[in-house]
Amino acid sequence: MARRSVANCDICEKLGEYIYIKNDVGEKLPEAAGMLKEVAGEVLGAVVYKCPHCGTFYTYSRETDNEPGLSFDVTEMKRVGRDEAKKIIDSEKRYAKKYKQKKLKELEKSISTLEASERSVVLYLVETLGKGKCQPVIENDLNIGGPEAGAIFASLVKKGILEKKIVYPLKAEKDECRQESERYTKDNVFFNIKPVI
Ligand SMILES: [Zn+2]
Repeated sequence: MARRSVANCDICEKLGEYIYIKNDVGEKLPEAAGMLKEVAGEVLGAVVYKCPHCGTFYTYSRETDNEPGLSFDVTEMKRVGRDEAKKIIDSEKRYAKKYKQKKLKELEKSISTLEASERSVVLYLVETLGKGKCQPVIENDLNIGGPEAGAIFASLVKKGILEKKIVYPLKAEKDECRQESERYTKDNVFFNIKPVI
């Protein structure tokens, strides 16, 4: 069977070349967007998705502001060529490699003194390339929880390896927690490797 092209792709036909939606008035991305596969994260400012059926690339960006009276929340999704997508993916790979090498070197001494469970949290957070994660996501991904998890995080914060932040999940997307300075809930705790870049 011939490889599907964007012209006869059932996912891409529902997305089109360009999507701009206002999330704050309840507009939503077409359901087909959920079928795309993330191939570059948000590290360098652009998320790149790839269509699993035809290989077409899309960039995704979301901008929010919660200033009273000036609040907005918009998402832009754009079909991009293979070269443009590859450029973003490659630069992210280079960045990731450099970041991890530098961070692991920085942490070398302290990592060797950690308990295995603490070390796994630190190595996991290094993989987020300085973005950090919400506590429930870390617990779920590493299969830890309860008092045990609490003790690990507390110990790493005390040792000055992790930074703890309280965040307010603006939109309850799977691993997305957005910092919000005024309205936070005590259960939303976010951890990142120090120093935060
Ligand atoms: Zn497609």
